[in-house]
Amino acid sequence: MTGSEEWRPVLGWEGIYRVSDLGRALSVRSGQLLTLTVAGNGYFVVTLSWKGVDVKRTIHSMVAEAFIGIRPDGTEVRHKNGTRLDCRAENIHYGTSTENSQDSIRHGTFSPPPDHNSSKEACPLDHLLVEPNLRNSARLTGKRGCRACHQAGTVVSYWAAKGVVLNFEVVANEKYLALRGKVAMC
Ligand SMILES: [Zn+2]
Repeated sequence: MTGSEEWRPVLGWEGIYRVSDLGRALSVRSGQLLTLTVAGNGYFVVTLSWKGVDVKRTIHSMVAEAFIGIRPDGTEVRHKNGTRLDCRAENIHYGTSTENSQDSIRHGTFSPPPDHNSSKEACPLDHLLVEPNLRNSARLTGKRGCRACHQAGTVVSYWAAKGVVLNFEVVANEKYLALRGKVAMC
């Protein structure tokens, strides 16, 4: 952990939650870091609670609001290096959706809008949603989730809590190859 991490109040949750320029969030009352989970769209989310009401927020939007300001109309949050889970303040910017698409294409992370007529065949990182790359819950609910990305989210969150920033896509791709039996399990 570096000593230079800067913490600011989460907009609308001042005095309750804080977010840092390294993309971490903590509860002011407990002093505990919030658990980061990876949402189905590939972004880090945390659950904020107030008087029994839970609100899911993306880390990148809280970092942007705290370190840049309120998002101007017509813009969205951009990850400058194209890595959705890199929520450091220096990697976050506001831009138009056109610019965002160009970022994605430039960084090779662009995936075309899903075809609503076909079932989901791959996750946002193009991991095929077939066994053994299906989450256990998929067998129960029928909703297919990427096991590799889920495992990677756990690993990245674990290390993020220790102040170590891993590249989610690299970890997820390794997990995917391991699940597919193409490299040794680690
Ligand atoms: Zn995946």
